[in-house]
Amino acid sequence: MNHRSFLLPIVLFVFSSSIFAQAPSPETFLGYPLGKHFTPHDKIVAYFKEVARTSPDRVQLEQYGTTYEGRPLLLAYIASPENLKKLESIRTNNLKLAGVGGAGSAAGSEDGPVIVWLSYNVHGNEAASSEASMKTLYTLVSGSDSRVADWLKNTVVIMDPCINPDGRDRYVNWFNSVVGAQPNPDRQSREHSEPWPRGRSNHYNFDLNRDWAWQTQVETVQRLKKYNAWLPQVHVDYHEQGFNNPYYFAPAAEPYHDVITPWQREFQVLIGRNNARYFDRNGWLYFTKQEFDLFYPSYGDTYPIYNGAIGMTFEQGGINAGLAVQTSDGDILTLADRLEHHFTTGISTIEVASQHATRLIKEFHNYFTNAIQHPEGDYKAYFLRNDSFGDRLERLKTFLDRNLIEWTPVTSGAFTGTDYETGKTATFHALPGDIVINANQPKSNLLRVLFERQSRISDSITYDITAWSVPYVYGVQAYGLNAYVSGAKKETVTETTRNISDTAYGYAVRWTGMRSVRFLSELLQKGVKVRYAERAFQSGGVSFGSGTLLVTTTGNGAAQRLWPLVSGAAARAGVVLESIASGFVEKGADFGSDLVHLIHRPRIALLTGEEVSSLDAGEVWHLFEQEIGYPVTLINADEIGRVQWKNFDLLILPNGFYRTLEEKNNADMIRNWVREGGRLIAMENAVAQLSKMEWGIQSKEEEQKEGDKNKKDETYSALRRYGNRQRDDAAGSVPGSIYRVELDNTHPLAFGYPNHYYTIKQDDGVYEFIKNGGWNVGVIKKDSYVSGFTGVKAKSKLKDGLLFGVQDMGRGKVIYLADDPLFRSFWENGKLLFSNAVFLVGQ
Ligand SMILES: [Zn+2]
Repeated sequence: MNHRSFLLPIVLFVFSSSIFAQAPSPETFLGYPLGKHFTPHDKIVAYFKEVARTSPDRVQLEQYGTTYEGRPLLLAYIASPENLKKLESIRTNNLKLAGVGGAGSAAGSEDGPVIVWLSYNVHGNEAASSEASMKTLYTLVSGSDSRVADWLKNTVVIMDPCINPDGRDRYVNWFNSVVGAQPNPDRQSREHSEPWPRGRSNHYNFDLNRDWAWQTQVETVQRLKKYNAWLPQVHVDYHEQGFNNPYYFAPAAEPYHDVITPWQREFQVLIGRNNARYFDRNGWLYFTKQEFDLFYPSYGDTYPIYNGAIGMTFEQGGINAGLAVQTSDGDILTLADRLEHHFTTGISTIEVASQHATRLIKEFHNYFTNAIQHPEGDYKAYFLRNDSFGDRLERLKTFLDRNLIEWTPVTSGAFTGTDYETGKTATFHALPGDIVINANQPKSNLLRVLFERQSRISDSITYDITAWSVPYVYGVQAYGLNAYVSGAKKETVTETTRNISDTAYGYAVRWTGMRSVRFLSELLQKGVKVRYAERAFQSGGVSFGSGTLLVTTTGNGAAQRLWPLVSGAAARAGVVLESIASGFVEKGADFGSDLVHLIHRPRIALLTGEEVSSLDAGEVWHLFEQEIGYPVTLINADEIGRVQWKNFDLLILPNGFYRTLEEKNNADMIRNWVREGGRLIAMENAVAQLSKMEWGIQSKEEEQKEGDKNKKDETYSALRRYGNRQRDDAAGSVPGSIYRVELDNTHPLAFGYPNHYYTIKQDDGVYEFIKNGGWNVGVIKKDSYVSGFTGVKAKSKLKDGLLFGVQDMGRGKVIYLADDPLFRSFWENGKLLFSNAVFLVGQ
């Protein structure tokens, strides 16, 4: 059908709604039956608005935020007229049951309605679910299903019709632009082959279904504020999987994290059985208990679970199915089928929740009472050090606040606890700025999952990474304590600029974290000359570490001009500015020394496009635009032959497979550009690729087995049990675990770090030490394993090798980052390492 039909309904709805003042059906409003076309996001928004306008006693609509591209984020609250009137008191009572907000869980009443939260379309190109949301909304308000009125007596439904509008519209606009007059079910047709970067992710190519706990993206930050202001008892996250798969619903697969309660397991089965009843009646295929596990804490099922809810993922087969596709069993799967299945599980979930409302609320209340009174886990409290390494703890505190995890400052006292770094018992004294997190609080289970030193995994086959312990993620020194700690009062201490005068010889800012990077970024863009000190020094009795930024009046025009630029940038970045009286230092190198380096403002190119992992390119793009505030030019990898390389100083190759570099001309061109002074950052698989091109870095291969004994054991190694095939494959796998990296922090790549760093290892890639003309800045030694699952084969390979290194090439440098320091943007402690590579190395 041609798409002019999109234009008609506007006229219709004004006509019908003004006369009947009753919620229009999706078909009446849109001008086509659901499933006939993909509905652009603005039309979904318009439909929800129209239903809220025409049924104000049953629906309240709220815009809770805006996406990076400016699209609205919505919540619809659907309740009986009585409950809708007292929505706010229902919400506050529910929070009281959870004990959130300091009230204590005893204060809440268990008579309130149960809260069911349905989240649609987190992955933009899994687009059937937002279509289903319109049918679900209409069914809940129109009276077309006579059971609804009964359910809404004890149930409030909250619907987020589209978590990821930017991704959805990327997919839908593309699809609508390539589909013919009739959809083509032949899977070879171009409408079933979505172009890079695809609509799954948000604007910055982030997977929002990995971001619930970390909240690195604006969509998540805004949504989680609302989620934590409600804390529903049931949450469903709608997805689609490959179109040859049938439907998946709860109960989930193993592994389950062991904080998951018997009730949370039991209720998944209740929902599963009810869904199955509908699916059986219609003869639809489905599976449960496979593939989708409950472990990694940042999904739309696990995060709700670790926050007291029954959290579930429902998956329809449908990615790239378009409006219709022929599946491998020869059937035609249509959008109409897909949305009908999602609609059915939504209604079934509301039905089951209503049937078990009393038990759901009681168990929810118990969950939080237990969390507060009898928290489980290895430690009663977590002690976090505010050491000299910058704003790491500040960032961690923001993360805790966003998840409503309570913490308190401790300023003095002696403590004994398990040192996260050594795993051994240590005694230490609290210092100003340190904090403690007691486990006896409402968010106790979430806290435990996020902070446990070793992840507990009941099965080696999981869908995602197996380690994320927050102290390692943030690079903060931590101790697990066996007793609660009464903390000091929270006071807002703002560090202000000290010892400052506008007529100083120069100014210094310590290189301790992303605030320092932001400060540098602004000054470079304003044309201010900034230097960095390669060695620690002392001036005016004050000590400064290596990497300290120096801004002198010399070369920067008059002091009157410089002062507002420097003080303004310092205030905006939140760094402490120190004034320096003289270029003669008491210890270390004077400012005119060759150990003090001028930082040239880098002109940066970032490769993107089909040859690049969209998620990894997105992390770099997001870091520059949203965290550092520095311009970067995105270039498609297959167009590097046409680029004027003399216009760039730094080239970044994110994780990818660069076919373009297999062409000799392109590879030579890049190599020559480096030799003439260019700097190149290669990340993850790009490092592997350069090693194959013999750029001077060499991949470490698995060690040869020694002796006859091993050989004998291998005689039958080819005989694998078919039933064990998934488990056997796990031997070589590293789904994402934590390793300790030893750092040479006298090299600029490791400035601002202690002598080590914790990396998230996602593969068994490790490189030989660079022997000539380079620096082995980050290496793993023998016992570097810290946490998470690593297969036995991979474990034996992961030792004595290079992960982060710098190699001289002519007048230029190649910087190898074999692991991803920007992982999902939540690996906070890696961001400075990457920034060092960008701004300091080779300057
Ligand atoms: Zn999905």
